[in-house]
Amino acid sequence: MLFSDVAKYYEKIESISSRLGMIDVLAEMLGNTDRKEIRSLIYMTQGVLSPPFEAVRIGIAEKLAESSISLATGFSLADVESHFRKSGDLGSTAEELVKKTRLKGIKSEKLSILDAFRLMSKIATTSGEGSKDLKIKTLAGILAASEPLEARYLVRFALGTLRLGAGDATILEALSKNSTGSRDSKVLLESAYNICGDLGKVAEVLAVHGMRGIENFKVELFSPIRPALAERMNTADEILKKMGGTCSAESKYDGLRAQVHVDKKASRVEIFSRNLERLTEMFPEIAKAALSEVDASSAILEGEAIAYDEVSGEFHAFQETIQRKRKHMVEEKSAELPLKLFSFDIMYLNGESYIEKPYSERRSRLESILHTKGSGKSRTIMLADRIITSSPKELELYFDKAIEHGLEGIVAKDLSARYVAGARKFSWIKMKRSYKSELSDSIDVVIIGYYLGKGARAEFGFGGVLASVYNKKRDMFETITKIGTGFTEAQMEYFRKLLEKTRLRSKPARVDSEMEPDFWVDPRYVVTVRADEITRSPMHTCGRSEGHGAGYALRFPRIIGEGIREDKSPEDSTSTKEIIEMFGAQKKTKVSA
Ligand code: ATP
Repeated sequence: MLFSDVAKYYEKIESISSRLGMIDVLAEMLGNTDRKEIRSLIYMTQGVLSPPFEAVRIGIAEKLAESSISLATGFSLADVESHFRKSGDLGSTAEELVKKTRLKGIKSEKLSILDAFRLMSKIATTSGEGSKDLKIKTLAGILAASEPLEARYLVRFALGTLRLGAGDATILEALSKNSTGSRDSKVLLESAYNICGDLGKVAEVLAVHGMRGIENFKVELFSPIRPALAERMNTADEILKKMGGTCSAESKYDGLRAQVHVDKKASRVEIFSRNLERLTEMFPEIAKAALSEVDASSAILEGEAIAYDEVSGEFHAFQETIQRKRKHMVEEKSAELPLKLFSFDIMYLNGESYIEKPYSERRSRLESILHTKGSGKSRTIMLADRIITSSPKELELYFDKAIEHGLEGIVAKDLSARYVAGARKFSWIKMKRSYKSELSDSIDVVIIGYYLGKGARAEFGFGGVLASVYNKKRDMFETITKIGTGFTEAQMEYFRKLLEKTRLRSKPARVDSEMEPDFWVDPRYVVTVRADEITRSPMHTCGRSEGHGAGYALRFPRIIGEGIREDKSPEDSTSTKEIIEMFGAQKKTKVSA
């Protein structure tokens, strides 16, 4: 397919305000794509060059793109900058200026989607001395060959601001529609996606082998699995009831989730984050230990990486564990504050997938390959502590003990459940210290718009945000609260700068809102908030589709933490379903208090 056709589809998608309409256009575009092109098309539509764990990032800076536009069109840098100041979008600037050069009779060349993808990848992987000039020239070369509309999307893509608003679930439904005529196969496609974390791969397998290929999708080493997530509950009684009378309860360690892939024969280890990003270099001590402490030829383990003092038996605070996030600190910190991996699951062993096996079997295999008992030697990969119990009292006591040890709480696990990749299900239930105090838990919300504010705030150009949670069933972001207070001056500055860059002209198709902020933004940034209470509200759309009339809102919300949650994608925010459950739990607590 020519990139000029892709650009026309992108223009249509951008102008559509309904999610279903967006799926139709995406499905039509997929229908016109060759199987050789499908991976590139899917990645480009997501605004990326690779799945998250390969991390091929384009990240062209505005200044650099301006130079490319100038070089491609013959307009001076000052002209490009002045146009950009007026348009506010370098993509539109490129489109306009390329249009003017075309009017002078300079012709475009035909660029295919594969050409566009290859050239963008070339820009991303160019490094070293002179790479800046080479990047400018490569982008200029593409723009010189492109039509105005292509230039709009190529520049936005290069800047990382494509933002068509199609999330993973929307693309999965479009793939289903294109392949089977209905959106119903999304569920099957999603299970394939959940075990490989790569939409491009799922789309390619579907194009080449059809639905049979999707049904036969297998867990593979070095292809990260989307993590299983836990539901929440407040009491041991409830948990045991939900789990059929007996459960395993593990300590809930407050560190960083790590998925460790080991292939001993190849001496290769890779570690992935909760978001499937490759973090191997961040955990050198765990990567090394995976080769010597895991008694298997190959395995995928999951655990929590956390700083732990073996002598005192104390866990360090989360903030200390993540100190090494910046590259230059890794070596220093891994010597000073080595991390342990508290392993709690196994998804693959010696060439065989384990996700279908019950938790009890997975856990005993995990124990057998970690040999943690008896050696007396200090280990980096340890087993998550656990009990098996049918007694609410014992479960409460275990929870209290976890808190005493400075842990966050416990995660109860259904002994007979498979590993439910990529979903929040009752096969895991968390009970946290915070549930026992104020509103049951902190809530992760997605910013969908912001306000300018009045008075002194207007000076900053920032007066608060409109926030939403994710309704997985509808694949929509539903409003839950306006956050207008509690910002420091530094935070106001931080949010204004951040959000200004993702402003949109109109409400995104996957946002359901009755409120109108001063500016809509791309729903991409997650912040963690605490609130006093969840209340019913006629103003907000959260949970309204569940048929109870009014929606749900947060009372007295305030942002906690320094800024956005980089480890969470918008679809990882708290879900509408969780909000409704938290509202129910809150009512029960009030009644019993
Ligand atoms: P939270 O902010 O409560 O950690 P979350 O959305 O990141 O929530 P959940 O799946 O809801 O993730 O809660 C389980 C999280 O707890 C996991 O992501 C994992 O990082 C952490 N964890 C710590 N110990 C365990 C354990 N023994 N079993 C499972 N998860 C554990």
